[in-house]
Amino acid sequence: MDRLIKELQRANIGQLKEQEPLANHTTWKIGGPARVLVIPKDIDSFITTLKITSEGKVPVFIIGRGSNLLISDEGLEGVVIKISDCLDHLEVNDEEVRVGAGFSLIKLATILSKQGLSGLEFAGGIPGSVGGAVFMNAGAHKSDISKILMKARVLYPDGTTQWYSNEEMEFSYRTSRLQRDKGICLEAVFQMKKGDREEIVAEIQKNKEYRKKTQPWDYPCCGSVFRNPLPHHAGKLIEEAGLKGFTIGGAQVSTMHANFIVNVGGAKASDVLQLIDHIKAEVYRKFQVEMETEVELVKNRI
Ligand code: FAD
Repeated sequence: MDRLIKELQRANIGQLKEQEPLANHTTWKIGGPARVLVIPKDIDSFITTLKITSEGKVPVFIIGRGSNLLISDEGLEGVVIKISDCLDHLEVNDEEVRVGAGFSLIKLATILSKQGLSGLEFAGGIPGSVGGAVFMNAGAHKSDISKILMKARVLYPDGTTQWYSNEEMEFSYRTSRLQRDKGICLEAVFQMKKGDREEIVAEIQKNKEYRKKTQPWDYPCCGSVFRNPLPHHAGKLIEEAGLKGFTIGGAQVSTMHANFIVNVGGAKASDVLQLIDHIKAEVYRKFQVEMETEVELVKNRI
């Protein structure tokens, strides 16, 4: 590892931190240290970092804005690359929007709404990056990324890149092909629609206000912890199992929205994991429904 760190430093790829607490890079404020965290300064540095790690056979984990991750208290070996500050180009061409994977989804939705471009109103309150949203097929308010994505450019660990059409991205509920084939989204092209600027801005505002009323904004969290076990709603099942407010260590089932686990102070990943297991067991005991996490549990699998 020491040789690899020296090589990365010589290549001047941007910021490199050793033993960096990943709690500083997740919305849950949970996660042990990354052996090495790289924040590349641009796309070339990102590709160089991947080339060096792949030649050194060092495992890599990509993070966007850390809003859908539960990282273990032990932290992660290998190299964690945070791309939300580097792949952030934006090009608007009439109704076509080409945007870097590191761009903030909330910022993008806001910018495009002010230009009278409709399609991302659903995303005004999703605190991920464009790449993380493509990976997850993020969605809300009966829409998701698959409704607007024309194509995405994907990089593979061997250095090859490939453009995929919407169909080729294999989108379904909170899923895309990237979850199985380890591709990294470099950029996306969205097909927006011209609309009434005031109406689009108002729609985003309405969605944000709805979230404020129904979701906890005052504590660190990761959004919905469980996928909806269709046709059921995860939050409703957890609430009906009487688990709102149930607490283990610093992790609590939100009293506002039962599918959110909030960090009420100093929560460890192990507290959250215990709480997740407890919720799964109780919901199964009461309703015979198997719950699956939407949040990604990251142990030393990189
Ligand atoms: P991260 O959490 O950093 O990473 C998640 C996964 O994506 C990891 O496996 C990572 O390796 C992978 N990844 C990240 N970037 C890339 C890339 N460029 N290429 C390939 N893989 C990549 N989600 C919804 O769908 N709907 C909601 O309404 C919603 N509301 C939320 C509300 C709150 C308050 C919070 C905290 C979260 C919410 N989320 C919601 C969850 C989260 O914001 C989304 O899943 C988001 O898409 C994750 O993006 P990210 O950049 O934070 O990804």
